[in-house]
Amino acid sequence: MSVVTRFAPSPTGYLHVGGARTALYSWLVAKAQGGEFVLRIEDTDRERSTQPAIDAILEGMEWLGLSWDRGPYYQTQRFERYKELIDKLLEEDKAYKCYCSTERLEKMREEQMAAGEKPRYDGHCRDNPNVGGDKYVIRFRNPQEGSVAFDDHIRGRIEFANTELDDLIIARTGGTPTYNFCVVVDDWDMDITHVVRGEDHINNTPRQINILKALGAPVPQYAHVSMILGDDGKKLSKRHGAVSVMQYRDDGYVPEAVVNYLARLGWSHGDQEIFSREELVEYFKLDDVNKAASAFNTEKLNWLNQHYMKTLPAEQVAPQLQWQFDQIGVDTSNGPALEKVVSLQADRVKTLKEMASISRYFFESVDEFDEKAAKKHLRLVAKEPLVKAKELLGAINDWNAATIQAAINQTAADLDVGMGKVGMPLRVAATGGGNSPSLDVTLELIPQQTVLARIDLALEFISQREQA
Ligand code: GLU
Repeated sequence: MSVVTRFAPSPTGYLHVGGARTALYSWLVAKAQGGEFVLRIEDTDRERSTQPAIDAILEGMEWLGLSWDRGPYYQTQRFERYKELIDKLLEEDKAYKCYCSTERLEKMREEQMAAGEKPRYDGHCRDNPNVGGDKYVIRFRNPQEGSVAFDDHIRGRIEFANTELDDLIIARTGGTPTYNFCVVVDDWDMDITHVVRGEDHINNTPRQINILKALGAPVPQYAHVSMILGDDGKKLSKRHGAVSVMQYRDDGYVPEAVVNYLARLGWSHGDQEIFSREELVEYFKLDDVNKAASAFNTEKLNWLNQHYMKTLPAEQVAPQLQWQFDQIGVDTSNGPALEKVVSLQADRVKTLKEMASISRYFFESVDEFDEKAAKKHLRLVAKEPLVKAKELLGAINDWNAATIQAAINQTAADLDVGMGKVGMPLRVAATGGGNSPSLDVTLELIPQQTVLARIDLALEFISQREQA
């Protein structure tokens, strides 16, 4: 039987880092075996499920490149099927109507708690003939003997005694099916062979297995993925920075870095850190996923991001840089090709957001100079080098890195000063600040006339400063 996995988010918020990692692992299991990956939106909680959350989840999956082969399925569109199976269980006496009042259940709960017992349904309606009326829930008749065991791919064998499990409500008053029931029916109908999900679902698994068995459905394999902690060892939350996957796009990370990072967060393959998607598909095994919780490490993510910005084809990164420029309102239609900016700046920044922010001078006029840099480099001593550099740069016929470098060298030689005395004022003049890649390749990306005009501005700045 071919492998079918699924990601089954409840659309109550954005796609968070933990969910994205679960989705990735599930996707990898399917891809590794040439199987199918299903996306299922678990939207039965109508009060908490929202369309913006559904959109955010789909957007996050697409951004990460986790394409699904089937779906998205929506549980709210499958109520008839759930009802059909609930009726079948009732008919076969594998489920029963429970008429217990909220007051009775509440009182029982309080008594159990007071006696130090785990609150559970006492089976009152299980054996009593139906009281009648239309106010009832439907409970699954859980086996009362024996145990349920499964071999979790991450956590090993897990066993629950059936006496620990009470009779779960599978339909509320009014007939709405409950979460655990819908999951079971869906996993069955969608032919899921491997359920990869968060460890918070471990306690649901034995209940779901019992229901699957009652329905005569095959039991899939399970893998419960551990939590992600912040770098302070506490459960990952907003306090630790970005928890929504799309926040990483906004913050200037490339999806390749985030995917690589999430894959390694809780899984390893020797001491390899960098994995192409093909390598992930080839090497990933659920059995190699860590049981222990993993701690988020932003520095490592930054390192990976820098690696991918540098090594991915610049044409692939350029549209993402364009997106960042759009966010800060920089019009890039007049200026160098963004591929060139990517190649030039990739090893100077950790994110594309930073890259956009330090690359404005390629597209916008330099109206003012960075205060600190100007104070240090746009002084009277810089006047002569700037005048000379302007003359030699202005005389260039073929504006490129080599001719620019030659003009800078010539300026230093003619004036008999060190390169820094020419380079730094020129850098501040041309880019507005004291940080830029090597001048020859930087100036090459700015039109010659623009560079000359910026030198004039710097000279003006120096004169005004001297007069002040
Ligand atoms: N809808 C559940 C959640 O978002 C996941 C259920 C499952 O994977 O079985 O936590």
